Amino acid sequence: MTDDSTIPVRVRPEIAALPPYKQGKQADATAFKLSSNENPFEPLAGVLEAVQAATALNRYPDASAGRLRRRIAERFGVSDDAVHIGAGSVSILTQLVLATSGPGDEVIFAWRSFEAYPGLAIIAGATPVQIPLTDDFRHDLPAMAAAVTDRTRAIIVCSPNNPTGPIVTQAEFDEFVAAVPADILIILDEAYAEFVTDPDAVDGLRTLGTEGHPNVVALRTFSKAYGLAGLRVGYAIGHSRILDAARSTSIPLSVTAQAEVAALASLEVEDELLDRVRLIAERRDRALSGLRAAGWQVPDAQGNFLWLPTGAETLALAARFEEAGLIVRPFAGDGIRISIGEEDAVEKVLAIAASVVEDLPEGHAGRGLA
Ligand SMILES: *Cc1c(COP(=O)(O)O)cnc(C)c1O
Repeated sequence: MTDDSTIPVRVRPEIAALPPYKQGKQADATAFKLSSNENPFEPLAGVLEAVQAATALNRYPDASAGRLRRRIAERFGVSDDAVHIGAGSVSILTQLVLATSGPGDEVIFAWRSFEAYPGLAIIAGATPVQIPLTDDFRHDLPAMAAAVTDRTRAIIVCSPNNPTGPIVTQAEFDEFVAAVPADILIILDEAYAEFVTDPDAVDGLRTLGTEGHPNVVALRTFSKAYGLAGLRVGYAIGHSRILDAARSTSIPLSVTAQAEVAALASLEVEDELLDRVRLIAERRDRALSGLRAAGWQVPDAQGNFLWLPTGAETLALAARFEEAGLIVRPFAGDGIRISIGEEDAVEKVLAIAASVVEDLPEGHAGRGLA
């Protein structure tokens, strides 16, 4: 007797207008899941043991994940209170937006960028302000700075940009921070920082440490390079009072003891981590050259994913990858993001992509202008 087309209770209109969440396609056993930028490797050495040893499931976790907080503070040479741990860096993003931005306020970010950004602003009651990427799929930081109004409360910069791949340079970022009023929060989302090989890329920790910009908060995560996406743990580094404000909006005790010990164990084996990150970055560079050689116009890729600007053909072309056992992430009307996964998947991606590019019309953005 329920009518699924209407919500049976009064819901905030901006929330009711949001599209219901649809789970991405789950890969069947033979397909490669290249749709969520996950790490194809097993957990690092010692991680499973640490999780198993943290067995007090009848007890609440430590509210501040204090041991992990201390360890990250040591690792980056900051004080404990300059570190905040969250159940994934997306949860910290949510907290920072809630803490800074409400109805009538504006949250600026590049578009296309991380899918979660528009919803975060809307959930806070604020207005998302989307600044188009440049023609080479990079942040247009001067345009973002120019979009600041007296309603702006937060700006999100994503480097490398998910889903298109390029970084923001340190020089660009420094200039941007200098141009933005010092009382506006700048969130530097560095979810893929570990995969970056471009020496000119922004490093949030360098900005925080040497320049002393108290309005910049850097966000990092254990989900991607560290392969702990399923456990949900990420962190922010920034001014302690900004992080206190974020904490005030958080769902208490959402970082589990298992997530905390897994992150701690992962930090113990940095060499092993860097080996696999290097491997993924090398696969990425190989796949990027292969795609370009096949005639694709692919933007620079500094994360663990590549972007095919497939435009109007996106859904049809994503289906071609899927038929071949490659689950990719299509953004209708825009492009396809392909995560760098298993070695065998790289060859397969290149083979399908090479056959698909042939079918793009002359002058299509995916083939470049050449
Ligand atoms: C994956 C991702 C995150 C982090 O996700 P968590 O799993 O919540 O840590 C944050 N920002 C971007 C741009 C991402 O792609």
